[in-house]
Amino acid sequence: MKTNKIIVIQYYVKTNKIVLRFYKTPARACLAMAGEASYAPLMSKKTDIKELTKNQLVLWLERHGLESYRAKQILKWIYYRQVDSFEIMSDLGKEMRKLLSHHFFVHRPEIAKTETSIDGSIKFLLKLDDGKHIESVLIPEKDHYTLCISSQVGCAQGCKFCLTAKGGFVRNLTNGEIIAQVRDISKQLDNSKRLTNVVMMGMGEPLANYNHVVSAINIITDSNNGLGISNRRLTISTAGLVPKLYGLGRETTVNLAISLNATDNKTRNMLMPINRKYPIEKLLDACAIYPLMPRRRITFEYILIKGINDSLEDAKRLVKLLRPIRAKINLIPFNAYEGSEFNRPEESTILKFKEVLNQNNYTAVIRHSKGQDISAACGQLGVANQL
Ligand code: SAH
Repeated sequence: MKTNKIIVIQYYVKTNKIVLRFYKTPARACLAMAGEASYAPLMSKKTDIKELTKNQLVLWLERHGLESYRAKQILKWIYYRQVDSFEIMSDLGKEMRKLLSHHFFVHRPEIAKTETSIDGSIKFLLKLDDGKHIESVLIPEKDHYTLCISSQVGCAQGCKFCLTAKGGFVRNLTNGEIIAQVRDISKQLDNSKRLTNVVMMGMGEPLANYNHVVSAINIITDSNNGLGISNRRLTISTAGLVPKLYGLGRETTVNLAISLNATDNKTRNMLMPINRKYPIEKLLDACAIYPLMPRRRITFEYILIKGINDSLEDAKRLVKLLRPIRAKINLIPFNAYEGSEFNRPEESTILKFKEVLNQNNYTAVIRHSKGQDISAACGQLGVANQL
């Protein structure tokens, strides 16, 4: 029988070596090369093993002559038993543990500070390897915890109402740094409640760090080889990077939230510069064809800002705009901060706005951000410590 093999020739500049590799299928060859490319720059020093997807770890093992099923064992130690040393992995042989320790380490960012709000939410300041900081917020709910995580250090979107944006963009987080927020903070919890919900609504624009966010999602939601958060309970919130939405819908089944915040392009251009590139019609067209799972809806976040986007006409326009989409609406009264040029509307205005949406059969809830006293509310993260 004739068997075809794909041959990949790799040249290692550092060691001046040429290596021939044989793969059974083109897909496997591509995966191997993609895996190699994504962590090759780090191989000169040790790599955080959380940077590797399961497939990349399998390929690494195969390349070192080890059985692929070992990946499952290793990942179980890292994500389920939460160990930080290969030495403890008692079901792996001594040589294998030595080899793993030689190439990898299990990184845990330092928890530099925690602050607890009067409403019970806890803000974690995490120090990354390069000295940069990110923040994550743990929010206690009735019978579970929700964790709000960051996807970037700083943010490049420049939304006018957002304090985080004022600090500018510093860098993307790696897969490992995104995953670490969930892994490390869940380790801090007592057993009274479980961390079941994760929202990517902290610092940064997740879709501007697309590849790392998708790799991290895969591990966070993997119940066999990852952290086991249900994909129904993980939400990605975006300012609306339209081309990336198509990929996200194809590659993941997590929940989608869109920060809409205005019902006409003039107002949205002023509030969110991204709208000049991807105006409301383009954004909502992409939402209308977004491949939603059965019984799911897209959440539209709408910050209510006094005199800017809080009129009854806005509410009616919002109803019309969302008609083609399976949608629900979160109304977020603007969180004011020192020096902010906007204000929060009166409570009666907020209620009237909500009433219009409800009368038109939309689920609309008013979300008062938690953690305001510790600067942990929406749009307030990272400002004091990010650089
Ligand atoms: N870049 C992503 C996620 C981070 S912002 C996004 O745009 O969705 C998370 C949420 O906080 C967004 O819905 C944003 O509109 C909201 N937000 C930012 N600043 C705020 C403020 N000052 N008051 C209320 N909500 C704010």
